Amino acid sequence: MARSVSDSARILQLARTSRDVVAIAMGEIGLPARVLALREGSALAYGPVAAATAPGQIPLRDLKALYRAHELTRATRVYGVIGNPVGHSLSPLLHNTGYIAARRDAVYVPFLVENLKDFLKALPDFGVRGFSVTLPHKGKIFAHLDEVEPLAEKIGAVNTVTVRKDGSLYGSNTDYVGVLRALEKKMKLRGSRVAIYGAGGSARAAAFALAQAGAHMFVCARRPEMARKLAKAAGGEAVPRSALRTQEFDALLNATPIGMFPQEKVSPLAASELNCTLVMDLIYRPIRTKLLRLAASRKVACVSGVEMFLAQGFAQWEHWMGGKAPEPIMRNAVLRALKNEENTRW
Ligand code: NAP
Repeated sequence: MARSVSDSARILQLARTSRDVVAIAMGEIGLPARVLALREGSALAYGPVAAATAPGQIPLRDLKALYRAHELTRATRVYGVIGNPVGHSLSPLLHNTGYIAARRDAVYVPFLVENLKDFLKALPDFGVRGFSVTLPHKGKIFAHLDEVEPLAEKIGAVNTVTVRKDGSLYGSNTDYVGVLRALEKKMKLRGSRVAIYGAGGSARAAAFALAQAGAHMFVCARRPEMARKLAKAAGGEAVPRSALRTQEFDALLNATPIGMFPQEKVSPLAASELNCTLVMDLIYRPIRTKLLRLAASRKVACVSGVEMFLAQGFAQWEHWMGGKAPEPIMRNAVLRALKNEENTRW
């Protein structure tokens, strides 16, 4: 039972010692080592033919078709996502689907990380070349990086780390790219008026992205001092909630978790506050939130948070793989998974 990433690394080391060893790291923390044990020399891997019966088990179909555990070699480039929790992350599906479609010798695994230092120490054992960073590590990772992209520094969050050949770590932020690409498909940002509801981590990425793209950016939050702080840092204006009823905007972004599963029947804003031509909800569970349904009923254009999720993942691909990702196939895989989730829930 792996209780830390370094426990998993010890299991991988064991697999390397002899051909007569079956090395299986148990528990959710052990999942990446389950995927990588065969390439390290484990004689067998275990994958249940039906659903998993214990934490960290990977159904045989996914072990073979998604992670390709039986085909990985020491030359395979390893990527992953670190977070706590990390079990619901769609990033392994997104990236592995892309690697398979583009015939890249790479694999992407979810690392349940409680202790950052413990994970970073184990990077060489797993041969990790890059990783996505999700909550609660997006801010804490800074202390461990050798170099940070200037905009990520300003935003105060890193969601993408590249492990360079010499082992040094370079941090960047593709969440802001995600917001920009999702919006730019639908509107011209330069000179437009865009309001953000919320002033947390993703609002911060959105605010800097919008300011960089030349939009007039407005921040509205339940704690006005947080809106003022973010607006000042990113070069926008803080507005009170009443402004959403009295002013018009080209776009309005929800950067709060209100409306996210299991609270999918709630909207952060009322229909009378959607005085804009486009609404983007950063939430993607569900794909079509109550807010987006309200917007559609007012003939306002809608952008789901899944567009941001996909775009930030494509940008990560460009960092790590170089060139353009096979976007349509990756998009379809994620949309299908989200729709399946929704069908089984409701
Ligand atoms: P966060 O850092 O915790 O910020 C949440 C913001 O929402 C804060 O300003 C918070 O205000 C506000 N808020 C929370 N509950 C509220 C309520 N009941 N009424 C009014 N405001 C409320 O969270 P985050 O990381 O920015 O994430 C926000 C949402 O974006 C999440 O649903 C997340 O899933 C989504 N997201 C999506 C993507 C994507 O790729 N599509 C990426 C990142 C995040 P206080 O500070 O006053 O609590």
